[in-house]
Formats: sequence, structure tokens, C-alpha cells
Amino acid sequence: MAARLLDGAAVAGEIRAEVAPGVAAFTARTGRPPGLGIVLVGDDPASAIYVRNKLKSGGDAGLRTDLERMPATATLAELLATVDRLNRSDVHDGILVQSPLPAAMGEDAERQVFDAILPEKDVDGLHPVNVGRLVQNRATLVSCTPAGIIELLDRSNITIAGARAVVIGRSDIVGKPMALLLLHRHATVTICHSRTRDLPAIAAEADILVAAIGRPGFVTSSFVKPGATVVDVGTTQVSDRALVERLFPPDSSRRAAFAKRGSIVVGDVHPEVAGVAGALTPVPGGVGPLTIAMLLKNTLAAALLRAAGAG
Ligand code: NAP
Repeated sequence: MAARLLDGAAVAGEIRAEVAPGVAAFTARTGRPPGLGIVLVGDDPASAIYVRNKLKSGGDAGLRTDLERMPATATLAELLATVDRLNRSDVHDGILVQSPLPAAMGEDAERQVFDAILPEKDVDGLHPVNVGRLVQNRATLVSCTPAGIIELLDRSNITIAGARAVVIGRSDIVGKPMALLLLHRHATVTICHSRTRDLPAIAAEADILVAAIGRPGFVTSSFVKPGATVVDVGTTQVSDRALVERLFPPDSSRRAAFAKRGSIVVGDVHPEVAGVAGALTPVPGGVGPLTIAMLLKNTLAAALLRAAGAG
């Protein structure tokens, strides 16, 4: 039987609808909307699309959204100066610096920049103070993608408490916070990565399997326990025809989309998994829309926190 599709786009719509009255009330009470400053450095086309979507969704939700665009030649000092200006701004409650930063800024640039954002404006939940709070299960600002996945599981009536959860991927932005959120919800959690031995066998123990790897179609049926819930975080732009033909049958809509555009976004989970899993997030339309909805929710939460602190 085909897996139930978990509709991330619909859940994201619900979250946005819940955020809207809070945004309106904040604006009425303080005389200004919650503000989000987004910094985009360089010309990475994928980042430009992500940022455009965030700006549009923020604007649609009634937030003030400002884009700080910096050239690929910007120095780390210039970027830190922009972050400092947004930190001191009264109208910006949230700050998001889009990654990846240009390689020329140096290996340690992202860490320095994320450390420089005030924890109370850190809507990506990457500042060490917010990560520490997450470890202690008292965080307000949590990385948007894993927080959105918890919302999706809850609202799809997937039981987390007591479940065996396996997270493939250990990045600071997805894998690690995902594992912590599942742990706080009383799942028994295993984190896997590129050095994990017997990965398919460990994954196949999961009631909830989260794939956050960035390798198209990597998770095949052999990784999945029949009936398991599978969350596909991966989003890789694929323009390799042979790979698309290996992954998707000739009559699939994904093949048609590829024929039209020359590239498509592909998740980490192989399409064959739909025949084994009990529930599955699609790509696109699964986790991606949730990430943006949670960014709006975090910006409102940051605005409310700052207003409470100022009052
Ligand atoms: P990342 O920082 O590159 O981390 C990837 C993780 O996957 C690493 O921990 C890596 O292990 C692990 N990995 C790589 N190859 C593996 C293998 N063969 N076997 C087991 N583990 C392997 O990526 P990320 O930022 O977490 O993002 C992961 C994916 O999610 C990407 O496709 C990204 O585009 C997507 N994403 C989507 C959204 C959304 O809103 N939909 C949001 C964020 C990210 P090591 O640590 O051992 O290297």
C-alpha cells in the first residue's frame, strides 16, 4: 500500500494562519510590525530563491522584511558590521544571515557571524546560547526546519513519545536540533552520519526516520521498516538526466517537470520508499514550506520577547 503523504504545505498554511492574528495584535499594540532583517551575501542562485521566498512570505504575513544585499567581495568585517547594525536596530526583531557564505570569507566565517547575532534576535536558533537552551529543553528560538518537522508530526497524529527515531545527518541546523527535539518529546533517538556502520540496518529500526543528508534518493526501501514514518529533509537541485531517469518512472510527474525545466529538486528518499513507509513527506511540498512558516513564527516570538523585555 502506498504511504500516506504528509502535507507540509497544508500544515505550513495552518501555522501561517495562526501567526497572523499575533502579528496584527503586536502591530496594533506597539505601532510597528515585527521586523525581520535578512542578509544575503554574494550571488548563489539557490540562496537568492530561498531569500526571495522568505521576504515574500514575511511580507504576506504582515511582517516588516528588509533585505541587506552584500556583494560576494564583501569582507567578514563588513558583514559583521551589518549584523551589528541590525542588532542595534529597534525595528528588527529577527536577523537571518543566509548560508552558505562565500568561500572567500574563510572557513570560520559562518560561526563568527552566527555568534555575533544577538541571541534574542537569532531566528535561526544557531547562536550557542539558543543551542544550549535547546539542549536543556527551554528554548524559544529553535532552528526552523526541525521545529517545523515536529509541528508536522504532531498535526499528522504521528506518535513521537516512545517511538524509535533515527536521524541521518548531524548538521548544526538540521540533524542535531532534530535529534534533540525528538528526544525532548520522549523518542528514543539515534543519530547517524557518514561514518555510521550498517546504516540501512540501523535506519530500518526506526518508527520515525528523518533523512537530512543532501544525497538524492540515498534512502532506499532497505532503510525503512514497513509502516514507518519517513521525513525527507533533503533538497538537491538535480540536472543529471540519467539520475532522474533512474529515480523516477517514465510516466511520473517529476519526469515531466524535469523535461520542462531541465532540473528538479530531489529529496534524500528514493521514490520506491512510498511502497514501504506508512507515512512520507514529499519533495517538494513537504518540509520546505514548514521551514518558512516557522521562520515567521520565530520572528513573532522574538518580537514578543523583546517587547516584554523592553516593557
Ligand atoms: P550538511 O550540513 O551537508 O549535513 C549533511 C549530513 O549528512 C552530515 O552530517 C553528513 O555526515 C551526512 N551524510 C552525508 N553523506 C552521508 C552518507 N553517505 N551516509 C550518512 N550520512 C551522510 O546538510 P544540512 O544543512 O543538514 O542539509 C541536509 C539536506 O537538507 C540538504 O539537502 C539541504 O539542502 C536540505 N535542507 C532542506 C531544508 C528545507 O527547508 N527543506 C532546510 C535545511 C536543509 P558527516 O557529518 O559525517 O559529514
